[in-house]
Amino acid sequence: MSFIKDDWFTVTQIDEATYAISEFGHWEKVHSYLLIGRDKAALIDTGLGIDNIRRITDQLTSLPITVLTTHVHWDHIGSHGKYADIFVHEQEEGWLVNGIKGLPIEQIRNDVARDITLPTPPTFNPKTYRPYQGKPKGILKDMDTLDLGNRNLQIYHTPGHSPGHVAIFDMKKGYLFSGDLIYDETPIYAFFPSTSPEDLVRSLDRMANLTEVKKIYGGHNSIGLDSDILDEVKELTTYLKKYELIRFGTGVHRIGRFSVQF
Ligand SMILES: [Zn+2]
Ligand SMILES: [Zn+2]
Repeated sequence: MSFIKDDWFTVTQIDEATYAISEFGHWEKVHSYLLIGRDKAALIDTGLGIDNIRRITDQLTSLPITVLTTHVHWDHIGSHGKYADIFVHEQEEGWLVNGIKGLPIEQIRNDVARDITLPTPPTFNPKTYRPYQGKPKGILKDMDTLDLGNRNLQIYHTPGHSPGHVAIFDMKKGYLFSGDLIYDETPIYAFFPSTSPEDLVRSLDRMANLTEVKKIYGGHNSIGLDSDILDEVKELTTYLKKYELIRFGTGVHRIGRFSVQF
C-alpha cells in the first residue's frame, strides 16, 4: 500500500494514514493530501487536473472521501469533478460555481501547459483545459471541525492569498495543512486584486501563534516543513509591520525559508 507507481503522480507516505500526492512533472510542484480516518477520508485539494487524482486515492482507501478545498485556484481544484462530496469556504463558493474572477482563461491555459517535464495523459489538452466549476456539497466556516473517525480536523479561515482560503489542522497528529498560506522556496502571492496583503499578514500571525503544530504541509514545493518555519513567519510579519510594507507593490520580502510577494 505504501508505494504506488504512477506516470504522473508521486505518492509520499507521511505516516500510516497520511499521504502526499504530488505533481512534480509540472513547474508548480503542487501537492494534495489524503488523510485517512477510521470511518472516512479527507482529500485536501485535488491538484492541477492534468491527470485524474482519483486513480490514486482509489488505490489508497476504500472509505468515502470528503474533499476539502484550501482555496478555489485552478491548480488546487483540478480533479474536483471526480468526487461527490466537495467542501469549500463560504467566501469562495461563488468562484467554484461561477468561475474565478479576474484570471483570463488564456493565462490559465498558458500556465497549465508550460514547463512540463513528464509525459501528460492523452486526455490532457491545454487548448481546451477549463478549471472545474460546480456546486459544492457543503460549506466550510472558521472553526468548523470534521471528524474522520478517531481523527479530528479543524478548519481555520485564513484569507489573504484568496478571500476564502482555509488551513486545516489535524489535531491528533499536529499537522497543519497550509495550502497557499505557508510553503517554502517561492513567495506566497498576494499581489492580485483578489488578494489582500493585510489579511495575509493577519492569517500568518494567527497560524504562527498556534501551539502544538509539529509539521506544516503546504500546497507547493517541499513536503513537510519543521514547525520552526513559524518563527520565520512571525519574524517576517513583525518586520513588515515595523516598516509599513503591508501593501500592494512593495515586492518580495523574505526571512529564511519563508517569503511573500505583495
Ligand atoms: Zn493559490
Ligand atoms: Zn497554489
